[in-house]
Amino acid sequence: MGLAASRCLTARSIDHVVLERGEVANSWRRERWDSLRLLTPNWQSRLPGYQYDGADPDGYMTMREVIDFISRFAVFSGVPVRTHTTVTCVKRNDAGYDVATTNGNLRCRTLILASGACNVPSVPALSQTVPQSIQSFTPFSYRNPSDLPQGGVLVVGASATGVQLADEIVRSGRPVTLSVGEHVRLPRTYRGRDVLWWMDASGVWDQRYNEIDDVTRVRRLPSPQLIGTPERATLDLNALSAAGVELVGRLAAVRDGQALFSGGLRNLFALADLKMNRLLGTFDEWARSHAREAEVGLPERFEPTRAPASSRLKLDLRNGELRSIVWATGFRPDYSWLDVPVIDDKGHLRHDGGVVDAPGLYALGLPVLRRRKSTFIYGAGDDARELVDHLASYLATPVKARS
Ligand SMILES: Cc1cc2nc3c(=O)[nH]c(=O)nc-3n(C[C@H](O)[C@H](O)[C@H](O)COP(=O)(O)OP(=O)(O)OC[C@H]3O[C@@H](n4cnc5c(N)ncnc54)[C@H](O)[C@@H]3O)c2cc1C
Repeated sequence: MGLAASRCLTARSIDHVVLERGEVANSWRRERWDSLRLLTPNWQSRLPGYQYDGADPDGYMTMREVIDFISRFAVFSGVPVRTHTTVTCVKRNDAGYDVATTNGNLRCRTLILASGACNVPSVPALSQTVPQSIQSFTPFSYRNPSDLPQGGVLVVGASATGVQLADEIVRSGRPVTLSVGEHVRLPRTYRGRDVLWWMDASGVWDQRYNEIDDVTRVRRLPSPQLIGTPERATLDLNALSAAGVELVGRLAAVRDGQALFSGGLRNLFALADLKMNRLLGTFDEWARSHAREAEVGLPERFEPTRAPASSRLKLDLRNGELRSIVWATGFRPDYSWLDVPVIDDKGHLRHDGGVVDAPGLYALGLPVLRRRKSTFIYGAGDDARELVDHLASYLATPVKARS
């Protein structure tokens, strides 16, 4: 997102520098597991003035390809990036901000926080009560199944990360139990098109943050159960059960060496199915009312998620059945270096569509920042352009008029 913002700043001749603690595309180099591919199709890999132009627009990039794509964009755009420069503290001063880094200090009038939404895996506090004999992994420490000890694996969380990891771990021959909480079910393709094509074409992805009812809740929604594979496979809970993954409810507690799961899987599944069907209904209505029926296949409905006849409510963590836990319980940003009072009591940045609650401070890349697609590469361009427009008018406003 920082690179996209840089391109927009350059277009407006605004002098700037991009600070990066690692290398360009650092998160894709350092914080992803080996087999990961983007879940967004190649044609959605698009940054301001730059887009995927290869031979497989409907494919999904490997990490190597993402790193190359982003690195080429940085060169193409002439981004003034200072790599291996970690920002350690940001404070307000009279004219803007003091920025302390591992590579010297800077002063700036405006600052864009583009440090990412997924800096730290969010692991629930109850992980502390898991017996020491069980090895814990997060999506940052896990690279491939061979990292795990032989034996049973509990994957906690059934959003994009959890379903992808459960799938590859069960295929490695380890018994996998998947703990499922609230989740977003989506088919990979619908009526012959990628489901993200539908999100885009029907305008759902462009819905703006200030037009969404209860945006706070929508910002907290888990990522959809999607995977990018050459086969364009759907990876839902039915596919995982068929591959041998045992489904259990939400991990509610760990007590006396037992993992305790909520019941009510049937209701949880019914709710996710209902929401998916509602969304597919929106797509159908859009295709009908926009005379696009001829371009797509016939409407489809998918088999409801099969609930196990009875799901286990307890798992003994001491009897050797289970050897490791993968916490696929989400990610959060890290603002520990931001010494500006803009974080609310829940730890969220206070902002209005990326205009942070402090003069001249902006943010990019957070969930539903300005649109539903804000947190994806595909959403970077539109948000960066609008925020840089705001930033430019802020800079053009005389200092006296700002306060
Ligand atoms: C597992 C996973 C899968 C994803 N899959 C997709 C996908 O398929 N398609 C898609 O579009 N999006 C996907 N995303 C979302 C993806 O993170 C965003 O699309 C995009 O990477 C966000 O870019 P960003 O610049 O906001 O954050 P990041 O890519 O995290 O970049 C932030 C940068 O800031 C640097 N940084 C952080 N703190 C500091 C500091 N204090 N000082 C200096 N530098 C710092 C980091 O090193 C990093 O390079 C996925 C995310 C995750 C976690």
